[in-house]
Amino acid sequence: MKTGICFIIVIPLLWFNLAMAASDLKVVVSIKPFHSLVSTVMQGVSEPALLLNGNNSPHTYSLRPSAAVKLQNADLVFWGGENLEGFLAKAIHSLAAGARVVSFEDTPGLILRPFRSGKEWQKLDPESENDQDHLKKQEIHRLPGNDPHIWLDPLNAQKITQNLVQILSEFDPENAQTYHSNGKKTILRLSDLNIQLETKMSSVSSKSYIVFHDAYQYFEKRYQLNPIASVTVSSGPSTSVGRLIDIRKKIKNKNVLCIFTEPQFSPKLVQTVISGTAVKKGILDPIGTSISPGPEMYFTLLNNISHSISNCFKK
Ligand SMILES: [Zn+2]
Repeated sequence: MKTGICFIIVIPLLWFNLAMAASDLKVVVSIKPFHSLVSTVMQGVSEPALLLNGNNSPHTYSLRPSAAVKLQNADLVFWGGENLEGFLAKAIHSLAAGARVVSFEDTPGLILRPFRSGKEWQKLDPESENDQDHLKKQEIHRLPGNDPHIWLDPLNAQKITQNLVQILSEFDPENAQTYHSNGKKTILRLSDLNIQLETKMSSVSSKSYIVFHDAYQYFEKRYQLNPIASVTVSSGPSTSVGRLIDIRKKIKNKNVLCIFTEPQFSPKLVQTVISGTAVKKGILDPIGTSISPGPEMYFTLLNNISHSISNCFKK
């Protein structure tokens, strides 16, 4: 009896899924925020595959066999470029040999910001052994060029969406109309998001804080925030003793109210930095580790970042 009911339910569902699968275009996207924007444009057509899921940083991740298979089968691959996703830099063109590979950094009209310089962000002492080690690691993340955390500005997300509509429509002209109307809706939602964030962030724009790694300047400059420094200079989990002492000084001298850890890295370092000070601790997550992938993910991510920042100052 139970099996009978199952068949009655399952068969129409299968038929419905087949009828909706208007495209067999295989699209692969590197990280969740970008994957979310691609998902909004492809809604109702098909779902893009996601390469990097779970609690991993794109800076320190290494490619898994399952991800390599996704790349081999892809028609279209979107990624964040070698400054962001070192794990893909060598493999992407050989593994995805049959695919068109598009870096989001090449999006027309994108606002690109150079890496922040200065001791607060990344200047290192070449005499120090610890810093020498960092200079080596830096090669992974700090290639010359632009800061790759481009998605953390909704106006960049709009440009990315616009470009996605263009590329997907070229690849899959049958669904061009859907891509265009989805893209239009997303771009409008991103305008609304930008206005909401502007209002929300205006009340905390003068407050000083420290971040774990220098990932947020697109967000910070868009909403005129006041970050003082990053704990690490490269994107890895360690830093030098000299730098920690410097940061403790800054906490005292620059009236730093909050320090933000990231879920991808151990908060031990941050604990060392703030012990004995009155600074409050918050969490910022630039790639949305705990958020489910999909069309809503991008909006949740930016709202979470703004909540984390304003909540830390409220406590
Ligand atoms: Zn980063």
